[in-house]
Amino acid sequence: DTIGANLDRAVAAWPDREALVDVPSGRRWTYAQFGADVDELADALLASGVAKGDRVGIWAVNCPEWVLFQYATARIGAIMVNINPAYRAHELAYVLRQAGITFLVASLAHKTSDYRALVDHVRGDCPRLREVVYIGDASWDALVARAADVGELRPAALSCDEPVNIQYTSGTTGFPKGATLSHHNILNNGYFVGEMIAYTEQDRVCIPVPFYHCFGMVMGNLAATSHGACMVIPAPSFDPAATLRAVEQERCTSLYGVPTMFIAELNLPDFASYDLSSLRTGIMAGSPCPVEVMKRVVAEMNMAEVSICYGMTETSPVSTQTRRDDDLERRTGTVGRTMPHVEVKIVDPATGITVPRGEAGELCTRGYSVMLGYWDEPERTAEAIDSGRWMHTGDLAVMREDGYVQIVGRIKDMIIRGGENVYPREIEEFLYAHEKIADVQVVGVPDEKYGEEILACVIPRDPADPPTLEELTAFCRDRLAHYKVPRRVEILTDFPMTVSGKVRKIELRERYGTAG
Ligand code: ATP
Ligand code: MG
Repeated sequence: DTIGANLDRAVAAWPDREALVDVPSGRRWTYAQFGADVDELADALLASGVAKGDRVGIWAVNCPEWVLFQYATARIGAIMVNINPAYRAHELAYVLRQAGITFLVASLAHKTSDYRALVDHVRGDCPRLREVVYIGDASWDALVARAADVGELRPAALSCDEPVNIQYTSGTTGFPKGATLSHHNILNNGYFVGEMIAYTEQDRVCIPVPFYHCFGMVMGNLAATSHGACMVIPAPSFDPAATLRAVEQERCTSLYGVPTMFIAELNLPDFASYDLSSLRTGIMAGSPCPVEVMKRVVAEMNMAEVSICYGMTETSPVSTQTRRDDDLERRTGTVGRTMPHVEVKIVDPATGITVPRGEAGELCTRGYSVMLGYWDEPERTAEAIDSGRWMHTGDLAVMREDGYVQIVGRIKDMIIRGGENVYPREIEEFLYAHEKIADVQVVGVPDEKYGEEILACVIPRDPADPPTLEELTAFCRDRLAHYKVPRRVEILTDFPMTVSGKVRKIELRERYGTAG
């Protein structure tokens, strides 16, 4: 199916069920209304001269228009380019030019970002950009009104193997890359993610993760609409209190987040006052999901069926997921097993040979979910996808005897201290159990004697009483091999983050890399 055809099916099957709720504005759509608004916007885009294969950008925080635009562009075969709302002028200009964007929809402003001023600033450098429309201003209404002028224009015939999206990666390890994805790639992935957690038209999915990222737009929106579930927008950008309030008010059954979001929610001073009894499931994904945090989500947030997904933008995104009937150990301690119709293998990165179960290596994946390629970057595509169509993820993982996968960490984050390979993840998991630690990130910093030394960046539970290096050393002694014990500690109030909620370890390494 194409995404448009799949939405038609949902509209026919569940016309009166709720499709979309925007909590901040109180606006709501049934599937029938949502389908009609998508059609109207699709007509308006056609009437504006947007044609199949054109790149159209969306640079906006979470709002209903984002979702309407996602489905309207898919319906007419345009290629939607989702642009990170945290971008500044030069990054925006890069994406506008790199993807050849001709039509852009943007938020007006949010928090400290004045999107209109930033667009005006770069517009002269982007000659292909014909038109910019702002959500929540007269230009949006004028766009929608053009639907009446569509006349005889009809969308071109579409195949599900054609590109529908250029999704930029999070930029956790460097500059983001634009993954080109087809209807077939992301619709199937969204559908199967929903299958794994048994979505039905009864479900209401609270989506505090950004739509600009695959977690929101595929695992959120496409998983919901392919099952008749309702998408609930708690806030334009992540806000822990607004998220829990939305769950309570809208009786959400499912809640998404990267680990840092769940940590922020669990640590709210008034956490106990929210009624989370409607929740049954949800997804944690995006970066290593600490076992302690998963256990608290199960026990304290009423999410007995919570699922972990592992994947990357380039693979639509999900490659492995925990299953609904998994026990607590698998649910909290692994990233699940391979998704239906996808292949996963773990190879020795040096030789490319598959390693035995239980041994660590690079995770590679193949199947319908692998992207068409990086947009206009054939060399980078060839580095990532080998001649056998295997996507090399850059992640180290172990496949256990039972087929469940554990992520060891990114190859790029591995610390080599005095010739020993040290995986930050293992030390982080260990330190999470310390009573004075709310959140922790472990990175390697250059060291004259050992090549690299281990630094723990700690957000303390009580800022007035942070753990000292001596306390952490004592905590680790006899319980961690000596070469894994952090030799430096830095106390922080927050971590440098991507908009998709991932810690940019590269920035921590740069910041503290010289001071030691
Ligand atoms: P960039 O590629 O631009 O540096 P990124 O890799 O963070 O950024 P994404 O595609 O958003 O961009 O994220 C995919 C990566 O996130 C994976 O390669 C993996 O390292 C990490 N990841 C995703 N899910 C999990 C998980 N459940 N556990 C551990 N790591 C995860
Ligand atoms: Mg990546």
